[in-house]
Amino acid sequence: MAVAIAQRPLAPLTTWRVGGPALRYAEPASVEDLLGHIDAAEHSGLPWFVMGRGSNLLVADAGFAGLALRMCGSWHAVEVGGRGSDTPSFDGDYVLAQSGASSSAVVSAAMAAGLGGIAFLSSIPGSVGGAVFMNAGAHGAQTSEVLLGARILQKDGTIAWKTPAELGMRYRHCALQGGGGIVLEAAFRVRPQPAADIRQEILELARWRRERQPREPSAGSVFRNPPGDSAGRLIEAVGLKGVAIGGAQVSPIHANFIINTGSATARDILALIHEVQDRVAATYQIELIPEVRGVGLVLAR
Ligand SMILES: Cc1cc2nc3c(=O)[nH]c(=O)nc-3n(C[C@H](O)[C@H](O)[C@H](O)COP(=O)(O)OP(=O)(O)OC[C@H]3O[C@@H](n4cnc5c(N)ncnc54)[C@H](O)[C@@H]3O)c2cc1C
Repeated sequence: MAVAIAQRPLAPLTTWRVGGPALRYAEPASVEDLLGHIDAAEHSGLPWFVMGRGSNLLVADAGFAGLALRMCGSWHAVEVGGRGSDTPSFDGDYVLAQSGASSSAVVSAAMAAGLGGIAFLSSIPGSVGGAVFMNAGAHGAQTSEVLLGARILQKDGTIAWKTPAELGMRYRHCALQGGGGIVLEAAFRVRPQPAADIRQEILELARWRRERQPREPSAGSVFRNPPGDSAGRLIEAVGLKGVAIGGAQVSPIHANFIINTGSATARDILALIHEVQDRVAATYQIELIPEVRGVGLVLAR
């Protein structure tokens, strides 16, 4: 088993670029390695968590007093129609990807084989594991709609393939969020499509984002959209677009993004999250629920 690193700074491994170090940090190379690190942490009474590309994480300034397991070190193989020893027999074309692969790598591998239908994933800057765990979605589609199944290391140490229904996936939700296991790999349904058309789709989605989303470090949308409304619209309506606390600012371009203007701390970002929640609740009696995940801190008050 690879040795865990002590006091590994997590900020550079997140898109918000804030937060302190993990007391222990490892990039497991195999399931055995992963289980070994988890066992060691549990024996020492250390909490642990799994991270992907850190694009939806707010890490506390004091860091995480436990073990961070990052899946993007070795787990990034992507194979069109690949099969492991326990892969179910999926109907039709599919791409099999390990959890640390970036969502955009999955789209590119499929495109190279003339297979599409998952272009929206190219615009979400995270890993396969993060996409399943968050049921990430964009441009009218979400991961659960193209996911055939995910191979899960369950809490009891067993491994099983689960369908999106078995994972309870709905808008930005997956049952794994209750602490129910680690995504090892996932299979995505694809369909024949000319590579040139897919490339065009990807370029258009990228252009759409460049025109509507900030370039500064962020974690994408901070809050889930409440039913029938948009968090960004509500935040703008209470006059918070552009408002800053310390180095954290509600993006002047997209009000559901909080950007790091260069000197933000996790504390600044958290204070701004609470300010937004308070103002929207006071005006509209709507509770905005964070979509981002806290590490070493609790987002709810
Ligand atoms: C500029 C920008 C734009 C964004 N746009 C979108 C968007 O359009 N739609 C959208 O849905 N999201 C969006 N996001 C948020 C983010 O990209 C997604 O939530 C993404 O799926 C997170 O993946 P990740 O690998 O970075 O996960 P991380 O941020 O590393 O982790 C997120 C959560 O997933 C868990 N996790 C990660 N890997 C695993 C695993 N293998 N097994 C179990 N749990 C795991 C972590 O414990 C954590 O709780 C955006 C973010 C940014 C920075």
